[in-house]
Amino acid sequence: MRKPILIGNWKMNKTRDEALQYVYAVNEELISNANVDVVICAPAIVLRDLVKRADFKIGAQNMHYAESGAFTGEISPSMLASTGVKYVIVGHSERRQMFNETNESVNKKMRAAFSANLTPILCVGETLAEQEAGLKEQVLKFQIISALIGVSKEDLLNSIIAYEPVWAIGTGKTASTELADKTCGFIRHEIESLFDAEAANNIRIIYGGSATTQNIGDLIKQENIDGALVGGSSLSPASFVEMASIISSTIKKA
Ligand code: PGA
Repeated sequence: MRKPILIGNWKMNKTRDEALQYVYAVNEELISNANVDVVICAPAIVLRDLVKRADFKIGAQNMHYAESGAFTGEISPSMLASTGVKYVIVGHSERRQMFNETNESVNKKMRAAFSANLTPILCVGETLAEQEAGLKEQVLKFQIISALIGVSKEDLLNSIIAYEPVWAIGTGKTASTELADKTCGFIRHEIESLFDAEAANNIRIIYGGSATTQNIGDLIKQENIDGALVGGSSLSPASFVEMASIISSTIKKA
């Protein structure tokens, strides 16, 4: 049985004071997260502060793959781990599109995350142009295969894959629940081809792209969707907590 997971991605939002207020609010309201893992991926500068105070898990939004060196402004996997974070987003489409993240660097970051005992949240997804050209499955397959080069089954099972259609991120356009489920199922099938049925049955695959309190209930009921990566709707503690409680109270079909 795969445990659902709700991951908030604040992106470049919240000062230190705002971040701390948010954590105190969520700590107060998050009744029980026994049925759902809850993570907030915050800007690097507040990670240590949040790890010390949050009653839920904290993750980073990016990292460099090298252990150390002349990479001005970058943060290494072990630096992240030393703050106490357990998760790191790898290959978010905003980093692929605006910061030159490539499938090759994504693969290096995946392997570096495992070496530092961090759980990578691997983001994959097609752009609108790729979808309209009928290239969705080809793009996803290539992103997955290249991200997982040199990754063992054991490590794979310690990662999360987020399917985030780029056209749905921050646009208010959500993939229909059927389409999101079908595509997460396609990714699961690719994992079976690359590894085996056990890996495919156990890996958590989540949906991201304009997930809200309105659609999370339907999304989480789908067979292949194990949670959500949430940007905009994670910025308010109230809506994030509500999403966690909707997931926690939604009975998954067997
Ligand atoms: P969104 O962002 O929920 O605001 O669409 C999702 C993401 O970028 O992970």
